[in-house]
Amino acid sequence: MPRHPLHQLRSLLIVLAAATLFAFSPGAMPKPRHFTFYTLQPGVYAAIANPDGHAISNAGIVDMGSYLLVFDAFMTPHAAREMRNMAEAFCGKPVRYLINSHWHNDHTGGNQVFGDATILGTEEIRMAMREKLPDEVNSYPGFAPQTARTMAEMDIRNFNTFDSLEHILWLSYFSGIAESMDSLRITMADSIIKLPFTLESESRRVLFLHAGNGHTTGDLVMWLPAEQILFAGDLVFSGYHPWLGDGDSESLISGLNSLEQLKPKQVVPGHGPIGGPESIQTMRAYVDSVRSIANNARRLGLPADSLNTLPVPEPFGEWHLKRFFTPNLRLSYSK
Ligand SMILES: [Zn+2]
Repeated sequence: MPRHPLHQLRSLLIVLAAATLFAFSPGAMPKPRHFTFYTLQPGVYAAIANPDGHAISNAGIVDMGSYLLVFDAFMTPHAAREMRNMAEAFCGKPVRYLINSHWHNDHTGGNQVFGDATILGTEEIRMAMREKLPDEVNSYPGFAPQTARTMAEMDIRNFNTFDSLEHILWLSYFSGIAESMDSLRITMADSIIKLPFTLESESRRVLFLHAGNGHTTGDLVMWLPAEQILFAGDLVFSGYHPWLGDGDSESLISGLNSLEQLKPKQVVPGHGPIGGPESIQTMRAYVDSVRSIANNARRLGLPADSLNTLPVPEPFGEWHLKRFFTPNLRLSYSK
């Protein structure tokens, strides 16, 4: 059957777009709504969440030769669908595997989009998803639509730049949940792996490593040894306060130490921009700082409430998701 001229034009445009995007490597591709697509090295890509989109967390895409591997699935099915479509169109091959770095909703909410692929996961992550996510997802209708509406109606004209972005980030989070909660289906791994786990093809070797229980029980990271690229999941936040409430800060420090020993050249954090090894050091400095403030307060016999008004220490004063800072201090104080 002859191909429709429009179809041919579209194919040509896709090829041209792909060539242009590649030429911009490692710069940003034309911006999809929910994320920005970066080429780290040929065949290795990072999908970095846009602050005003519904991806919320970052993801990775690896071209394994005849198929694609996706690391983390964003928070919403519609953002994950956008990422999958773009990755498959750009690389011209299907996603065969998805793997989650940990159980949190903002990394697993898009899993259902990969239902026809194999979802790899550890027993720990699958158990945590089974135990924790149903209650969380069931609670969405009770708060997300109303919170998103209230935030959208706020007059933010007098907000400074920092507070404006903070507002956008949280509005995106709640509106992403509100928009996706009716179609969201918790989708867990269907193929259980034990760490360390290696996925190998004729062109590439990818390792999945257990990096302690620092962010959650059973975090895993993706490491490409030949390319020296690390997808750190939520062991590393960059420019954003991490959430320390589901993990163990001591384990997080030793996990970060072990990531540093891999000597990565490029580090894709779970949240925030792509960086180098310094992003691991900065994250460790943050955790050290929270622990030492909390320890000092405890040693001085100060009550936990005294932590509520403490300012964010430098160099973290401009980090976003600022509302995590005081809970992080209090969690550290109580341990
Ligand atoms: Zn997380």
